[in-house]
Parts: sequence; C-alpha cells; structure tokens
Amino acid sequence: MLEVEKQKSEIKYSVFCSLFSVFCLLFFFGCRRAEDTSYKPEVITTKTGIEMVAIPAGWFEMGNDKGAADEKPIHRVWISAFWMDKYEVVQEEFRKYQLPDPSHFKNPKNPLERINWTDAALYCNDRSRAEGLEPCYDEQTWQCNFEANGFRLPTEAEWEYACRAGTTTKYSFGNDARKLKTYAWFAENSSGKTHLVGKKKPNPWGLYDMHGNVAEWCNDFYSESYYKRGPDRDPKGPAEGEEKVLRGGAWNLSSVACRSSYRASDPSLNDTCLASDIIGFRCVRSALNTAITLPNSDGKEDTMRMDSTSPSGTSSPQVLKTGFVYDDIYLEHKTTPGHPESSQRLVAIVERLKASGLYSELFMLTPGPAAMEWIETVHSSHYIERVKVSCENGTAYLDSLDTPISEKSYEVALIAAGGVLTAIDAVMQRKVTNVFCAIRPPGHHALNDRAMGFCIFNNIAIGTKYLQKKYKLQKVLIVDWDVHHGNGTEAVFYDDPTVLYFSVHQYPFYPGTGRQAEKGSGKGLNYNINVPLPAGSGDDDYLKVFREKLDPAALLFSPDFVLISAGFDACKGDVLGGMNITPQGFAQLTQIVKSIAEKCCEGRLVSVLEGGYDLDVMSASVEEHIRVLMRDPALTSTSSVESREPK
Ligand SMILES: [Zn+2]
Repeated sequence: MLEVEKQKSEIKYSVFCSLFSVFCLLFFFGCRRAEDTSYKPEVITTKTGIEMVAIPAGWFEMGNDKGAADEKPIHRVWISAFWMDKYEVVQEEFRKYQLPDPSHFKNPKNPLERINWTDAALYCNDRSRAEGLEPCYDEQTWQCNFEANGFRLPTEAEWEYACRAGTTTKYSFGNDARKLKTYAWFAENSSGKTHLVGKKKPNPWGLYDMHGNVAEWCNDFYSESYYKRGPDRDPKGPAEGEEKVLRGGAWNLSSVACRSSYRASDPSLNDTCLASDIIGFRCVRSALNTAITLPNSDGKEDTMRMDSTSPSGTSSPQVLKTGFVYDDIYLEHKTTPGHPESSQRLVAIVERLKASGLYSELFMLTPGPAAMEWIETVHSSHYIERVKVSCENGTAYLDSLDTPISEKSYEVALIAAGGVLTAIDAVMQRKVTNVFCAIRPPGHHALNDRAMGFCIFNNIAIGTKYLQKKYKLQKVLIVDWDVHHGNGTEAVFYDDPTVLYFSVHQYPFYPGTGRQAEKGSGKGLNYNINVPLPAGSGDDDYLKVFREKLDPAALLFSPDFVLISAGFDACKGDVLGGMNITPQGFAQLTQIVKSIAEKCCEGRLVSVLEGGYDLDVMSASVEEHIRVLMRDPALTSTSSVESREPK
C-alpha cells in the first residue's frame, strides 16, 4: 500500500517536473524580484506600542535541497501579505498582561524564553484583546482561526518567507556562515546567554534576530514530510501532531541551526511543562484585504500605501471602484460608411452600461493625449509624423484599405493611447481597483512604423512601456483575447522577457500570424505564448485554454501588472470573427484573469477595448466583463481569498 502511494507520488512528481521544466525560464524570471533585497517594507507601531513590519504577498522558494531531509525538496510557495513583529517578544512586553514570566535570563528587553507554545498563543490572544481585535486562538482547543483579525504565531511558511526576505541563500545575508556573527547571537558569540533584542543587524526586510538569540515558535504542528506534498498557497501545516515547529536557531546552537530553512520542533505545548531557555517567539497578523507595498525594481517605495486595516485599527477595508475611460472625442475618428470599426461601437457600450445601471457605479476617468515620449516608446517618429500629416492632408486610408482615417484621427489616436495611461495612473495611485478603457481606434495590430487592421497606435504596448518606465514595474502580463492575433504587440515584445504576451485567437485568420511556434526570441524565448484555435471554438474551449495554459504560465511569471487586449470579436454572432464565446463566457474568462492579478499584483489590472463588431453581443459582453471587474475580490469564486484555503 505504502509502495503504491509512493509510486503515485513519484508519478505526480515527474509530471510536475516536466511541467516545471517547460516553464523553467518563466520560473526563474518570476523569482527575479525575490532576489531584489533592497526593498524596505513599511514599519508601523501598533496601539500597544509594538513595531511590526509589513510583509508583502509573494512567491518564494521554501526549503533547501542541500539541507536536512525535512528541508527537501525546494518548492515554490505563495504567501499572502501579513504583519510581523520586528523583534522577538521581550519579557517586559509579556508581563504587561499579568502573565508569569518564565524566562531564565531575566532582563526586561531580552527575549522572553522558556515559554511553552500554549502560553505564547495565550499572549497572542491577550494582545489581540488589548488592541480591540478578535483573538485567533480557541482557549480550549488552541485551534487557530486564521480568519480572525488578531495576533497569532506565524505559520512555518510565513516565518521562512519573512526570514529569507527575498533571498534564496542559506542565510538572509548570503551563504557565508562566517558573517553570522554580525546578524545573530549563537553558540560562537553568545557567551552562553540570550541578549537584548535588536542589537545585531536586521535581515533585508528589517526583521531582527531571525537568526539566533532564541528559537521561535510557529503555529504549525511539526511533520517531517508535510512540505513534500503540502499546498503551495499559504500552507498551514498538518492538522494534528505531537510537537510544534521552532525556527531560527538560538544562542546555544551552531550556525547550521540558524539557517533560514532549518526546521526544529519541541513537545513543550502546554502549561504543565516549562520549555527550554532557548525557546521564544514573535507574533504576526494577517493582512488580508490590506494593500501592502510591493517591492519595486529600484527598491523605491511604491505609490501604494498601507491603508484601511493597519494593526492599530479595526475599520473594514475600503473597496475601490472600477474605473471607466471614455470621452466623446473617441467618436471623432471617422471610418468609411459601413466599416465595422465605427463610432457606434462606443455609443452602444455606453448606452448598454447606462441602461443596466452600471454606469453610475463606475469611476469615470477622462483621458488626455499621450505625450509624444510615450508614443515613441513603440512607434518611430517618422511614422508618428506620417500619421499626423496624413490626417491633416485628408488622406482616406493609412497604409492599407482596412484602416480609414479622418481629419481628427491623429488627435483621437493620441487620446486612445492616453486613455490607457490615464487608467494606469488611476490604478497605481489607488483611485480605482481596475479599469476598462472604452477607447478607439484599437491598437494591437499597429506596428512600429505601420498602421494595420483598423489600428493606428498600439495602445496596450504603449501602456506596457509606461508601466515599466514611469512606475518601474518589472513584469507585465498582456492577455489578448481578441479574435485576431495581436501581431503588433507580439512584435514589440518578441525578444523581451519582461513582458509575457499571451494571445488566444482564431487561426488561420487575419493577420496570418499567431502560430504556436512563435514563442519569442533571444531572452524573450517562451515569453510569447500563442494559442491558435479553430473557427467555431466556444466558451469551453477558451476556458480550457485559460485554465490550463494561461493560469499556470501567468502565476509562474508573477506579473506586477496585468493588461487585457479585450477584443469582443470572438463573440458568438460577431460580423468578422468566427468564434462562439457568450457574454457569460467572457465573464468567466475575466474572472480567471482578474484572479491572476489578485494573486500576483494586488489586483492591478487595466482592460483595453480592441475589436468587437456586433453591437448587441459586443456591448452585452462588455457589460458582463465589467460586472466581474467590479466584483469585490472577497466575493469572487476564485479570488485570492479562496487561495488562502487550499483544497
Ligand atoms: Zn480583432
């Protein structure tokens, strides 16, 4: 029986390995941010005067392939944002709650020790009550309620993630054990006792004594094998066990025991036994629904701030609206009579949203023209000038008969690209959660020096460059579900590993590109994913692609921002496309992309209209799309909230 189980798990593991290698390039890139240790998280002081550090959500590599058996294998784990005490809990802090101080090395500012696990949990509850928060621990069963907003012990995965602080080395400062003296009190330098907290150098995220001084209780029961097959999202350890986990090494232990991934355990669970004088703890508090600043490539603080639910407050988080970019100026780009890309498309969308009552719920964003420096990130100045002059001269078509222009088309095209930039600003400045841009002319066929397929400037590509240059975001995911392949966008980022371009489209079809074999080039190899589908594909076909191809690739890539090239010409009944997606299908596709943004980048998402030519089904699909964007993440079926409870 055991043998069968083992074989099964080996099969699963080998399947995992092959998937793993397919995405290994993406994977390694996905970890690049984690190597950036210059990031300094926010520190706050709680009501009761404790300093806590904001630990941002993110993926990390847990474990150590060269460590002890219980540290293997290295595996990727997602941790939701949380707050962690900057220091180990000290004796004077513990005594505030009239709890008997069991410490051996008495000193008010030395870490508390000889604390058994249950008394540590009791302290968490007392501190929660003192701050007006809901205690996490049931004082009969000592089960932890992770949904409560109070203090608790960290899960083992949270502890290691915080200790590593973006590093993948043995210690949070690198691999050289000789440097441990600078960061830790351990056997070689402690003179046989604990020391004042905070006297050694902190780890890259500003946490002190993560290595050494006293070992720290985690919430998890210890199991040697749990992490060989544990869930990859906010793992919470086995349901039962004999011993609880200890992390971080201590004053009388060797450098080996102070490593970031080193695991220990102890049976001192209840108040009838006194724990060893090497055992202490620190507290954490979940930060669900709290915006915690994410590390930027340059280590500078992001524009987002911690809001709503700081540990010193109990107010519920503010739910931001969905933004909507639109302006009547977009109607001034005139195409030839009977041309499918007409101003009536936007009129239909706005009317539909007004009729459904959604319009008044949206946060209106007024676009301006994109500055030339942003248009030039994607298009040659020669081409930009040619568009301008062609419009002034009253030329009827730009480059080919499918892209008619009018007098104001140049101005409107600048404002179409500007609309995407306005949307990005609103998301980055946390005025809105996400945005839908009802703009035209569309953009994803436009090339560096050529108009194509109704497109003049490549709005989404310009937005991507803007995110990377203005906001210093490293990685952008573009999901393009327009029925046509976005050849223009693909061309801009074909050799660029910082942009994952994912297109699902009808094939063979206009513009002729979009084969699966087009995977990117140079460093950008495997960062261009085309999924060509035959005409007639519908909701189930698209959902399968999104679940099986987009979702894993996107999560491994771990974008800092998500953009959608939202064409609605794959709708059932579209006059150009030959696909069969229903408005409800678009709602489901939207949910998948939105969940990716929630898991990877705090929901930062801008959706940009591309095609879609049947006024009724297109506007109905836009309505369903926007309904999902507007939904509170806590209420959505596959949101980051659910990912906290692995099934
Ligand atoms: Zn299209």
